[in-house]
Amino acid sequence: MNLLFSNDRRGAYPPSLYAAQNPVLPPFAALRGEARADVVVVGGGYTGLSAALHLARAGRRVVLLEAHRVGFGASGRNGGQVGSGQRLEVDALERIAGRDATRRLWDMAEAAKALTRALADAAGVAFHPGIAHAARTAAEVAHARANAERLARDYNYDRITPLDRDGLRALVKSPLYRGGDIDRGAGHLDPLALALGMARLAAGAGTVIHEDSHVHHIAHGARAGDKTVVQTGTGRVICDQVILAANGYLGGLDTQVAARVMPINNFVVATEPLGARAGDILAENIAVHDTRFVVNYWRLSPDGRLIFGGGENVGYRFPRDIAAKVRRPLERVYPQLKGVPITHAWGGTLAITMNRMPLFARPAPNCLSASGYSGHGVALATLAGKLMAQAVQGQSDGFDAMAALRPAPFPGGAAMRWPLLVAGMSWYGLRDRLGV
Ligand SMILES: Cc1cc2nc3c(=O)[nH]c(=O)nc-3n(C[C@H](O)[C@H](O)[C@H](O)COP(=O)(O)OP(=O)(O)OC[C@H]3O[C@@H](n4cnc5c(N)ncnc54)[C@H](O)[C@@H]3O)c2cc1C
Repeated sequence: MNLLFSNDRRGAYPPSLYAAQNPVLPPFAALRGEARADVVVVGGGYTGLSAALHLARAGRRVVLLEAHRVGFGASGRNGGQVGSGQRLEVDALERIAGRDATRRLWDMAEAAKALTRALADAAGVAFHPGIAHAARTAAEVAHARANAERLARDYNYDRITPLDRDGLRALVKSPLYRGGDIDRGAGHLDPLALALGMARLAAGAGTVIHEDSHVHHIAHGARAGDKTVVQTGTGRVICDQVILAANGYLGGLDTQVAARVMPINNFVVATEPLGARAGDILAENIAVHDTRFVVNYWRLSPDGRLIFGGGENVGYRFPRDIAAKVRRPLERVYPQLKGVPITHAWGGTLAITMNRMPLFARPAPNCLSASGYSGHGVALATLAGKLMAQAVQGQSDGFDAMAALRPAPFPGGAAMRWPLLVAGMSWYGLRDRLGV
């Protein structure tokens, strides 16, 4: 299943608020004929752009091939939340990887946030601190408190304040939640602005970017040092190394990676500007996500619209009426917004793994891949690009630390992923609805 051409207009950004509000870059010309490079990067989201930027800064000849436009994928459509830590909380990671490895993973995630903020800064993209975590049950509220205490005690991270029902309600004006926490070290930003900014920085550092350049085949060099040939419909690049940064859109380009990384769709809407009503939604300019498995997440745009993400996935096609789908959870969280006009609605494809930790892999001797950030990729994909750039240059400690977490393949491999996902999402959606 290849989602690259299933749900969107070829070569065009989706009808998101971000695409409507950001001046897009002039198009980068498609690849034509034969070119040479030290490294070819496949995919122009945060992973690929960061890899290209760091390699170009290190003096490598880099060609980045993007099937549509830079920031076309998840990187240009997401919730914009730059969260702390890895996708799994430290207690779960300690059980999987042990205390020392978890400490290292936590520190890498802090470095990911710092890198993302530095790139946002360099690109002139505003970062707004504060992400609240809204819990539905007393057990989740207790877990949030224990997590904050553990991070302060064992990880020197004291930016999270646990909140009881009234504390959370003072910030997040929804009747639905029993408490949670606020992480003042995390924050939110305009995700497409970040992707476009990273593309400008990468091009400025010397990366040759080609848009409208779908890679449909890679002939990998058989041994280290052999050349690799990366083929698009209108050209090819002969290179020493290739970096796969296609995430949920990888399709059949690499079946080993595809067996461990499952695409999943998620949906977002933006309302009309809320004016004075915005104060009745959030008391501060923070982002929020809740504890549902089919997570709800939201924040306000600079012009006071509610940007709200949520909604279950029951197939690989986006539903015809995304606004109606997302309106349901939006109005459950904020009954005071019943009937609010929705001006923008869009879908996006991300990628998840069995253990919710990304897959860092070497699918061939001269090939690196990172994907499957499981909804926690704004900072970690940006870091992944840098770690792959370092690995290409022979410093692979960071890449190897992430690769050690290698998620298991989905049962049934690449072919069974989608039916399995539909069954799984229906099951978890049901659990969310029943509150179990
Ligand atoms: C709706 C939504 C909300 C999300 N919210 C958040 C959030 O709030 N916080 C968070 O941390 N994460 C969030 N995520 C996840 C986050 O957006 C991703 O983890 C991250 O953007 C992944 O970046 P990437 O560069 O790996 O992939 P992408 O941004 O998807 O980029 C992959 C690119 O590769 C290109 N490509 C694929 N195949 C080929 C090919 N064969 N040839 C050429 N080009 C190709 C695609 O066109 C695409 O542009 C969300 C994702 C979605 C979809």
